[in-house]
Amino acid sequence: MAHGGTDERSWVEVDLARIRANAAALVRVAAPARLMAVVKADGYGHGAVPVARAALAGGASALAVATLTEGEALRQAGIDAPILVFAPARPDLARRYVAHRLLATVVDWDQAQALAQAARELGAELTVHVKVDTGMGRLGFLPEEALARWEALAALEGLTLEGLYTHLATADEAETAYVRLQWERFQGLIDHLDARGLRPPVVHGANSAALLRLPETRLDLVRAGLALYGILPPNVPQRTRLQPALTWKCRITAVRTLPAGWGISYGIEHVTWRPTRVATLAVGYADGYRRALSGRAQVLIQGHRCPVLGRVTMDQVMVDITDLEEDPGQEAILLGGSGPLAIEAWELARWMGTIPYEVFTGLSPRVERRYLGELDG
Ligand SMILES: *Cc1c(COP(=O)(O)O)cnc(C)c1O
Repeated sequence: MAHGGTDERSWVEVDLARIRANAAALVRVAAPARLMAVVKADGYGHGAVPVARAALAGGASALAVATLTEGEALRQAGIDAPILVFAPARPDLARRYVAHRLLATVVDWDQAQALAQAARELGAELTVHVKVDTGMGRLGFLPEEALARWEALAALEGLTLEGLYTHLATADEAETAYVRLQWERFQGLIDHLDARGLRPPVVHGANSAALLRLPETRLDLVRAGLALYGILPPNVPQRTRLQPALTWKCRITAVRTLPAGWGISYGIEHVTWRPTRVATLAVGYADGYRRALSGRAQVLIQGHRCPVLGRVTMDQVMVDITDLEEDPGQEAILLGGSGPLAIEAWELARWMGTIPYEVFTGLSPRVERRYLGELDG
């Protein structure tokens, strides 16, 4: 774990033993369905390659990424497991799918034909998963189209039709009527294919929330992202023990006592009302510590919650440590930590006006990734 060459302003510590344990827990919940670990967007900001290795060590059977390039990066790191690319496969890029043995997503008939032709021209066979839009309104065949085209799709030379999948729009919402409607549509399609002996070997529809909440959605395979990183989606039973894997820390670069009536940060939205001990932190919105946190967030210093004063700037943020009795030391925790005062991903996300997915994927490249609990071999 080399930290050489970095200036150690702000970093995340990713505990790979926790990722592995989360994967193992999800494997147990999903069984007999298999676990596909979703490591798109650089493993939700945690680092796709180490996360993928940890998830596979925990029993995941396959991986999923958003883009072709993300899939290639896993192969280049020597990862051998099946990898599904969610983005529709572009026929002009078929060669790269073949070269890296990536599973391609097919979303409509024109693309399927062009992809099949590209595969034939390469003298290759591409393995594909067909995406069906059951009500997410984003990508895929409508269920009736999929049914009408299925035999033609299966007959396309150059493509091996391995999978069928859909994506749920409201699996983590309190109201379940819509997710049940989406599921009825998908199940209806599966039943029709089954009746004609056309069901492909790998049918899947569950994300983290559906996996944990709606057992009927587990089918052959579940696609878990958020839960793998140890964060429970809303409205799921708390039975599954998951451990957040990521802690975000930064360095304290200055500690000063400012007089009462002193303005702090751009726009002077905060003016001290008493002599105030202020710590200046080496993190800002260019690291992903978003400006929406201005005057609203708290950080953990020596186990105490300290409020952010005034606006978050591009590279720095100021916090009030007047009430801290201890020496503040050199580090602040922005996300994570232990004990009842730990800052949970949902709490930081709420302060930002967003969701943990965006907090994690918003960690900029400037934030160094460090790994704990590294796996042997
Ligand atoms: C991102 C994604 C997932 C994983 O969702 P989580 O809520 O993180 O479990 C599953 N399937 C598809 C198609 C996705 O894009």
